[in-house]
Amino acid sequence: MLRRVENAFQRFFKGEGKYPKPKRRSKYRSWSYPPKDVRFEGNKVRLPGIGWCKFFSSRAFPDGFSTRTVTVRKKADGWYISVQLRDESVPATPTPDAAQTAIGVDLGIKKLASVSTGELIPNPQYGKKAQRRRQLLSRRASRKSKGSARRRKAYAALARLEQKVERQRTDYHWKVANQLVNLGECIIFEDLNIKGMMARCKPKVDPETGKYLKNGQAQKRGLNRVIADAAWGELKQKVKVVAAKSGVLVHEINPKYTSQECSCCGYVSPTNRDKEKFLCESCGWVADADVDAATVIRQRGLTELGINIPLPVVHGKVTLKEPVKDRGNHLGCQMSLRTLGWNGLNSAYSSGGESE
Ligand SMILES: [Zn+2]
Repeated sequence: MLRRVENAFQRFFKGEGKYPKPKRRSKYRSWSYPPKDVRFEGNKVRLPGIGWCKFFSSRAFPDGFSTRTVTVRKKADGWYISVQLRDESVPATPTPDAAQTAIGVDLGIKKLASVSTGELIPNPQYGKKAQRRRQLLSRRASRKSKGSARRRKAYAALARLEQKVERQRTDYHWKVANQLVNLGECIIFEDLNIKGMMARCKPKVDPETGKYLKNGQAQKRGLNRVIADAAWGELKQKVKVVAAKSGVLVHEINPKYTSQECSCCGYVSPTNRDKEKFLCESCGWVADADVDAATVIRQRGLTELGINIPLPVVHGKVTLKEPVKDRGNHLGCQMSLRTLGWNGLNSAYSSGGESE
């Protein structure tokens, strides 16, 4: 604990952090041991100052790894011990020139990830599914008298629910990360400003009365919740881990106008997009809006990396015979879509999603 406080103060003196705040005991849920202080033997561990303890060995230490820092942590359903491992045989950083295939990934809410190859990865929204139960447990807990054992237990039950949601999300993210890494040798993401996307709306003040007016924060709250539930940053982190293991390159690009740009001719307009459909007003390119965004992300990433890999043929994309030049004529757009059989195009995409 002293080491942590020391670290916090050193950071403050260097101007890297703010003045350390006093923290209550319950805030400290973990502590660490430096390398070589902790011994492991089978399902037993010797923690300095505590002695030998039994633990559930969830997986064996892989060969060739040395144990580093050991952290003991209290979680909602018990005590955990996490061990940092080090392997000297680190794989070389992949170079862009070696990549033969590249994919662009557009992260979203309805579909967690849309890949430029046409693959659509659904978003299970575990946090949203647990909302009803979360509400119930949180209400139960907050109504119990402060400082009571019942209140503590009720909050512990709520914490276990949150832990379950977190684990479901983590498990799914690892699966998606593996799936994405298998799709290409170079993965290109958008460098999303998630903090900025989730920022609170600016307060609106009535200049006459000085009272606060509605600023849309109430509506935004729901959106912020689903953004947090999707946890794009965590997914990207996991993709980077899996990619590093299999020598796949991960690159992030500026996400500006990726959803408005035509992947065929590069024309940018907010009216190019109509919800799930993408219809270029300049060249008449039709595609799934998210897949088009993923393609734009892929192209931008390849340009930044200075490599040129041709786009493989994607099934389900249809190009209009006659370009729709008339701006804002939505009726015209819809009619030309219908003549092409938009329903058939739609079903091609949804069947692609189901085959995941
Ligand atoms: Zn176009």
